[in-house]
Amino acid sequence: MSFEEEAKGLARLVKAGGVTIFSGAGLSTESGLQDFRSRDGIWAHADPTRLASIEALEEFLEFYKARLYVPEEIQPNIGHEIVAKWEKEGYVEGVITQNVDRLHQKACSVNVWELHGSLEPVRCHRCGREGTTADFLAGKPCSYCGGRLRPSVVLFGEMLPQRPLEAADELSDGCKTFIVLGSSLVVSPANYFPRQAKSRGANLVIVNRDPTPLDGIADLVVHEGIGAFLSETEKYM
Ligand code: ZN
Repeated sequence: MSFEEEAKGLARLVKAGGVTIFSGAGLSTESGLQDFRSRDGIWAHADPTRLASIEALEEFLEFYKARLYVPEEIQPNIGHEIVAKWEKEGYVEGVITQNVDRLHQKACSVNVWELHGSLEPVRCHRCGREGTTADFLAGKPCSYCGGRLRPSVVLFGEMLPQRPLEAADELSDGCKTFIVLGSSLVVSPANYFPRQAKSRGANLVIVNRDPTPLDGIADLVVHEGIGAFLSETEKYM
């Protein structure tokens, strides 16, 4: 199938409504953020299980400060914007994301569920109270108990937050079309939700640069850039 035919196919599915979006690191890299897991990504220069474990909290905090609280130059890209537009137009019902960068919200998506938490708000690692990002970046402790401030990002070894998991479950269960944007679908539960949607009769679309383990059960697989492909799809909406 040609790029154009693939785009027409996606446009048909999106216009039928009931769309759930599932986004991963591949969407953020198009905004210039480094991918944690890819070979030339951030983790290539660090041991991820060590860096992101609770035991290595200190290192993790330094790591996040240096790499992720990158200033305003990191902005949503055309992919985030089209997803937000489709939600506003009533086609997209919700977004499930593995990303912690809040770029979907910056692009004005509303129903966004973050499986791995988020850079903001910052919380106290000891008492759980909310702190300010400014205090965290300045290395100040929690103003209540003196504990460490940290982003609300889920570390290796920590439980995924319950409410986003439940919401992702509902969105996967009830959708007509489930669209994966930039996830390699290798880690759990990322690989669970597309399967669930498919088993409930939804159309499964995967847009990812590289092949994924679920390509074989998908109705449409596109190995192209997300922004380029969604822009092409917009032409047929
Ligand atoms: Zn505290």
